[in-house]
Amino acid sequence: MRVAVFSAKAYDHRFLTEANDRFGHELTFLEPRLEAATVPLARGFEAVCVFVNDRLDAQVLALLAGQGVRIVALRCAGYNNVDLAAAERLGIAVVRVPAYSPHAVAEFTLGLLLSMDRKIHRAWARVRENNFALDGLIGRNLHGRTAGVVGTGRIGALVARALKLGFGCEVLAADIRRDPELEALGVTYVDRAELLERSQIITLHCPLTPETRHLIDASMIARARPGVMIVNTSRGALIDTAALIDGLKAGKVGGVALDVYEQEADLFFEDLSSEIIQDDLFQRLLTFPNVLVTGHQAFLTEEALSAIAETTLQSLSDAQAGRPLDNRVEAAAVTAR
Ligand code: NAD
Repeated sequence: MRVAVFSAKAYDHRFLTEANDRFGHELTFLEPRLEAATVPLARGFEAVCVFVNDRLDAQVLALLAGQGVRIVALRCAGYNNVDLAAAERLGIAVVRVPAYSPHAVAEFTLGLLLSMDRKIHRAWARVRENNFALDGLIGRNLHGRTAGVVGTGRIGALVARALKLGFGCEVLAADIRRDPELEALGVTYVDRAELLERSQIITLHCPLTPETRHLIDASMIARARPGVMIVNTSRGALIDTAALIDGLKAGKVGGVALDVYEQEADLFFEDLSSEIIQDDLFQRLLTFPNVLVTGHQAFLTEEALSAIAETTLQSLSDAQAGRPLDNRVEAAAVTAR
């Protein structure tokens, strides 16, 4: 199948090309992000392969369909950047990689939490300057603290398990469905409001939907425990950034670790070190000593990239052969969630 791979980085090129030995698709790697202005690059291709910040709204999908594109293959689990109803109307199948390596994201989440809480990133900056003073680096034990996990699917369940069994936290969870295995370990399901009110650490692992958009907003921050730590490796828009900044300025929010950001599409995955960043909210966020931000890299392990490449190319082969698409995302299924 002829596939236009948008937002392609060196690592996409490497892992997709290696895996493609077994599939034999015609892959064309394109650096630009897919959006209305870049749709013409997909002319002559049957499939587009995209990532988290490519924009597949109704307009882009209609243009793609007009050019003969019949399949969109997401190299990620989340699909909030695709208008699924429009894709269905236009006869475009959308496939994703539902579970490439939940361990990659769960482990990174814990790494971020520990770095932020124990100030490891700040300590490293000091040591490089031969400043070995410890003032300002006091952290807190994770052991015995109350951690709230919102969304206990593949990633959230691993995080909950590690916090409970590995660190000895009291773990609260909120999800639209319970995981009996976690309950057997002593994880307690509560409603989202109670979780946000009782937790000293809140970590987000639910998908971005209209219902979860700005799940952390001014009212939730007002009701949270003083000094609450918030970790988000899921999707940026789960948090209202302006409200988060107000919470940090007021000292109500004690620490924030983010791998995702609401307006990341204009920033992440590019080297902007010589540019003037226009996003004042993001720049303000970076000024706080108790905020740690990474640029959407929780998925970035060898194992995850291999699995993403394998599943994506398998889906394209299935589509080509007219086989059922195991990893298809359909609008009806999403509405029913
Ligand atoms: P999953 O589908 O296995 O789990 C999501 C869980 O959230 C499910 O248990 C679901 O029931 C629950 N949920 C849905 N709506 C909810 C709501 N309103 N309130 C509470 N819980 C709700 O997904 P996953 O593989 O664990 O991934 C979680 C998220 O992590 C994805 O949606 C994706 O956006 C994000 N992600 C980020 C990275 C990264 O690199 N930073 C990588 C992979 C995935």
